[in-house]
Amino acid sequence: MTIRENNLHVTNTLTRRREKFEPLALRPTQGDPEHGRGVAPPHVGMYVCGPTVYGDAHLGHAKSYISFDVIVRYLRYLGYDVTYVQNITDVGHLTDDADAGEDKVEKAARAKKVHPMQIAEQFTRRYFEDMDRLNVLRPDISPRASGHIVEQIEHTKRLIERGHAYEANGSVYFDVASWPAYGRLSGRSVEEMQAGARVEPSAEKRHPADFALWKRAEPGHIMQWPSPWGMGYPGWHIECTVMGQKYLGETLDIHGGGIENQFPHHEDEIAQAEAASGKPFVRYWLHNNMVTVAGKKMGKSLGNFLTLRDAFAKWPPMVIRLFILQSHYRSPTDFSEEALEAARAGFERLGGAAAAIEKAAAGAPEGDADPKITELVGTARKCFSEAMDDDFNTPLALSALFDLARESNRLVAAGGLAKGAVEALRGALAELGGGVLGLSFEATATGAADTQIAAGLVQILIQMRAEARKAKDFNRADAIRERLVEAGVLLEDTPDGTTWRFK
Ligand SMILES: [Zn+2]
Repeated sequence: MTIRENNLHVTNTLTRRREKFEPLALRPTQGDPEHGRGVAPPHVGMYVCGPTVYGDAHLGHAKSYISFDVIVRYLRYLGYDVTYVQNITDVGHLTDDADAGEDKVEKAARAKKVHPMQIAEQFTRRYFEDMDRLNVLRPDISPRASGHIVEQIEHTKRLIERGHAYEANGSVYFDVASWPAYGRLSGRSVEEMQAGARVEPSAEKRHPADFALWKRAEPGHIMQWPSPWGMGYPGWHIECTVMGQKYLGETLDIHGGGIENQFPHHEDEIAQAEAASGKPFVRYWLHNNMVTVAGKKMGKSLGNFLTLRDAFAKWPPMVIRLFILQSHYRSPTDFSEEALEAARAGFERLGGAAAAIEKAAAGAPEGDADPKITELVGTARKCFSEAMDDDFNTPLALSALFDLARESNRLVAAGGLAKGAVEALRGALAELGGGVLGLSFEATATGAADTQIAAGLVQILIQMRAEARKAKDFNRADAIRERLVEAGVLLEDTPDGTTWRFK
């Protein structure tokens, strides 16, 4: 065992209780599900519902993926060997939760007159670019729904064999009446669902709450595959069950996602998984709350959303990251310009402390940290861990970090810190603020300056190329352009002059 003292407690949506976190510590490998049990460090299998890739990520996505990024980082900090799986939904997510409407990716593709896979590819790449800028670590596995059609068909067949699903007219539905535990996660009874306005009755369904595992492809539907029930495509919920179990085993330690996905998405995931395996699907269900604007949910369909790309134009990604971490993952984050500006000031305080420590490091005399510094850093680490152990309370963890930054500034300003003292301060800030909370202080401070310098240099080269062309030295002009392309800069000649962008 190499786990630090584990006192982590999480709020499990399934039991509605705060529970001590105890993973199965089992690393599934193909054909040997028991492999790795008890091997140090214990393993954590974690699955989080990923984006449906038909548009740019917005602040609501940032809330979800930064929250779970910090959870992964903290588990790793504690010493767990985490396998983090987050899917990419590129097929099957319809515009309406009740198995009706259009496929979201196909709809976007039709509007742009391109293949749906082109839309999926484009927005998958842009999603990762946005997350990289927010310093969100990439998942260990990012499985695509369209890459797991065979597994989804096999799982659907198993559910039919076990009497939990039925075919109707080329589509296959899960039979909720056959599964009494249905509704346990969301706390809804099947009768309530029947009365619920969102569940439209369908001629094919035996019960209005039944949900699609496989959908018959209507004429003109581009994304379709052959199946025992004819040409079609998978229902949205089945992909997460199948891909989670494929890579993490029949029982996942953690399943995360947005609070809005508790029903029907996660409820359906549980039913499909447990009805087929007979084992608990997930030990801990964790749900993040949403981003609101003046108290109302921010969402694409509501038209009040801010894409991350638009947000980055106003605030550095690290400021947005800090803004998200200032509220608990289970609480809403209310967006306003003022709140973002406050986060900017907060980030500058932390970044300022980090920069001051770096400066102090340069001239620090040899020597160990004195007991006062050791105590200060020890207290900061203790407060930080206690906050994070309490269901990942990032606002409280941040306040421990701000306290440390304030004290550190005072000590650095007083001068005379020995190398050991500077190292202790630097180590705590880097490990807790950088490693666990993912706040990259250097990247932003130097990043902005580097970009400015690069822009200036490109302008000089564009000028030199223009002069070469004027002097009819086309070889030289072309060479400048080629060298810039090699360095990752693309030029474009327009009637108004030459513009440039990074590749
Ligand atoms: Zn999902």
